Amino acid sequence: MSENSISCDGNLNTDEDCEESKSKKQKVSDEPELEDRLQEILCCAVCLDLPKSAVYQCRNGHLVCSECFNHLLADAQLRLGAAVCPCCRTLISKDMCVRNLVVEKAVSEMPMNCAECSAKFPRCMREVHEKELCLERHSLCCYYRIGCPWSGPYKKKADHEKRCAQPQKTGAEIKEAIPDVFLPVKSGGRNHLCDYLSFEKIACNDLQLLGPYHTDEYCIRFETFRFCAFGMEWEIRAHVNDNEADPTLSCERTLSYQLLLKESVDRPIHMHYTVVKGPLGEMKLRPHIEEFKFSDETPESHYALLPLEDSIECYRLLSGTIRFRLIMFWDDSSLTN
Ligand SMILES: [Zn+2]
Ligand SMILES: [Zn+2]
Ligand SMILES: [Zn+2]
Ligand SMILES: [Zn+2]
Repeated sequence: MSENSISCDGNLNTDEDCEESKSKKQKVSDEPELEDRLQEILCCAVCLDLPKSAVYQCRNGHLVCSECFNHLLADAQLRLGAAVCPCCRTLISKDMCVRNLVVEKAVSEMPMNCAECSAKFPRCMREVHEKELCLERHSLCCYYRIGCPWSGPYKKKADHEKRCAQPQKTGAEIKEAIPDVFLPVKSGGRNHLCDYLSFEKIACNDLQLLGPYHTDEYCIRFETFRFCAFGMEWEIRAHVNDNEADPTLSCERTLSYQLLLKESVDRPIHMHYTVVKGPLGEMKLRPHIEEFKFSDETPESHYALLPLEDSIECYRLLSGTIRFRLIMFWDDSSLTN
């Protein structure tokens, strides 16, 4: 009896069975870990990565991460076709697909390693680890505002601060060391928002880009309705990937826009303008300002890149309605000069 043992299913095992179970165990250890097997089940059907945020599923339950979902919808829009699930070809859209919260939660519990210190923790802890816990995280000296240039891993920060020479420096030395960003805006060039807000004439329009329209030259264009600013008619046009004929062939995605004056004027109009998210829009945009002199000879401005955070943000915009606020500042100083 001592030679035998009871297996989990309650059967008595003989020596022969034991040999078999040993080889079974061997086989099991050759198989991928549970973690890797789950990763294969929970990954996005397009990018094969574990989803970082929302997860959508088609009517047959296939999973796509939100970045790829927006990518599929945006590309289908640009081709003027319908988006389909990459696994089963059923139609997908924002109305037809639902989020899968169980998968989202399961993914957030899957373990991951920190790239800096190789600590292991659940995915949902990533931000806390990277911002507050990782000993290797990039940090600045506490005297950086008075000009200490030190930066390095967090574990060396305290040691540096004990020896940091910055607090002992004189006022003049510190003034010399303070980076430009903390000094008041330099006089001269107009690079401060307040300068623009003091312009005599400012117009603000909440607009929506309609399209995509395919033009005769096989290009894709978006445009707004005509709108009124300073008693004149204007329009915004936008195109994808610098007017590439088929932007869906590459993964990079950008949007550029142009401001058009739609009527004749008796003198040049020096306009500064910017696009912001606005109350109805949803876009992650870096601040920017454009400048153009409109006249009867030059009624269309240059195309300016919409400074979106990345291609993923551009896909998100292209997969839905693109709403934004256009603020125009009319530099009418030419009148007094
Ligand atoms: Zn994906
Ligand atoms: Zn499917
Ligand atoms: Zn770490
Ligand atoms: Zn320091």
